[in-house]
Amino acid sequence: MASQQGRHFLQIPGPSPVPDRILRAMDMPVIDHRSAEFGRLGRDVLDGIKTVFGTTQPVVIYPSSGTGAWEAAIVNTLSPGDTVLMAETGHFATLWRQIAARFGIEVDFIPGDWRRGADPAQIEARLAEDRAHRIKAVMVVQNETSTGSTSRIAEIRQAIDRTGHPALFMVDTISSLASVDYRHDEWRVDVTVSGSQKGLMLPPGLSFNAISEKALAAAKANSMPRSYWDWQEMVKINANGFFPYTPATNLLYGLREAIRMLHEEGLENVFARHQRLAAATRAAVRAWGLEILCENPAEYSPVLTTVMMPPSHDADQYRKVALERFNISLGSGLGKVAGKVFRIGHLGECNDLTLIGALSGVEMGLAAAGVPHRSGGVQAAMAVLEGQEESNTRKAAVA
Ligand code: PLP
Repeated sequence: MASQQGRHFLQIPGPSPVPDRILRAMDMPVIDHRSAEFGRLGRDVLDGIKTVFGTTQPVVIYPSSGTGAWEAAIVNTLSPGDTVLMAETGHFATLWRQIAARFGIEVDFIPGDWRRGADPAQIEARLAEDRAHRIKAVMVVQNETSTGSTSRIAEIRQAIDRTGHPALFMVDTISSLASVDYRHDEWRVDVTVSGSQKGLMLPPGLSFNAISEKALAAAKANSMPRSYWDWQEMVKINANGFFPYTPATNLLYGLREAIRMLHEEGLENVFARHQRLAAATRAAVRAWGLEILCENPAEYSPVLTTVMMPPSHDADQYRKVALERFNISLGSGLGKVAGKVFRIGHLGECNDLTLIGALSGVEMGLAAAGVPHRSGGVQAAMAVLEGQEESNTRKAAVA
C-alpha cells in the first residue's frame, strides 16, 4: 500500500533536499538587479563562493544547470580540432565527452569499466607520449555521480606536473563541491565546473566556473565563437557585483545562506560528515550481502553509494516498490548500468537519523520487492555511526 504520509525521503544523489533555512532565505520579493541592493548581494555571493572552491580567482555564476557550465568551460578555452584527454569514469564523463565532440574537439577517452576513478598513471603516460603538446586539456569528473567513484584530483595534478605538460586541467565538481575536499588554487585546477543542486543544498538552476589566470589567458586567445557563456564580459561586470544579463536573483539569496551554513559548520566538518555517512552506508550494503559498484576503497564516494542488484533482479522495479511503499526516492542506474544498480544519496542536508531512516527504507524496500538479501544493514550502519571502525562492522557482518 502506498505510504505518502510524513516527509518524502529524497535520497537521490542530487538534487538534494533544500534546508528550510535556505527556502526561507529565497522567499523574498524579486529586486532590481541593477540596484545598489543587488550589488551587495552579488558581491556577497561572488566573494563567498570562492571560499567554497578554495580559490581567490574569479568564479562566474550562470543561471543554468551544470551542463551549461560544462559547455562554458569548453567554449571559452577550446577550439574545433583541439585534442583533450578524458577518462571514462561513468555516464557523466561520457556526457561531457559528447559535448566536447559536438564542438569539434577530438577526445582521447581513456576507457574504463565504471568501477573506479580516473587513473593518474594512465593520464601521466598519455601526456608523456604527447611530446608535440597536441593535448590542450585534461578533463576529469571528481565525483562520478552515476557510479559512486571519485577521481583523486590532487594525484592527477601531480601526474600532470611530472610530465611538465602545459595542458589545462578542468574538473567537474558538480556532485562533489561542498561535500568532498576540494582546492581549486592549491591543486592548480584551471577550470572547476559546478552546480547548485547537490552539496550546496540549493534547488537546481545555478552553475559555476572557477577560472585560473592561465584559463582566462587561454580564453582571451581563443577564437571559438561564444556569447552567453563568455567569461570576459562576465568577469568584468562581476567585479562590481553585477551580471551582464538578468541573474537568478532569488537563487542567489539561497546561495548566500548556503555559504553561511557551510562556514557555520566548517567545511572540514562538512567533509568529515559526508565521509562518516558514506562509511555507514557501505556497512549497511555489505551487511545486506550486496555489492558496491566502486571497486577501489580509496575512491569510494562520500556523496553516494551505488549498489549492484543481484542478477535477474531489476533495480528500477525495486526502486518503484520502495517509492510506493515507503515514500523514498533512490537514484536510478544511468547509461550502461541502467536497471542493474540503484544509488543511495547521502549528501547535503543529511544527518545520522536522516541516513538511518533512508537505510531503513532501502532495507524494507528490499524485503517488500523480494530482493534476496540479509537483514541487519541498518544495525551495521548504526554501529558505524556509534563510532565503531568500519572494518569491525564488516567483519561482524560477514560472520
Ligand atoms: N556532472 C555530474 C558529475 C553530475 O552529477 C551532473 C548531474 O547530475 C551533471 C554533470 C549534469 O548537470 P546538470 O544535470 O545540472 O546539467
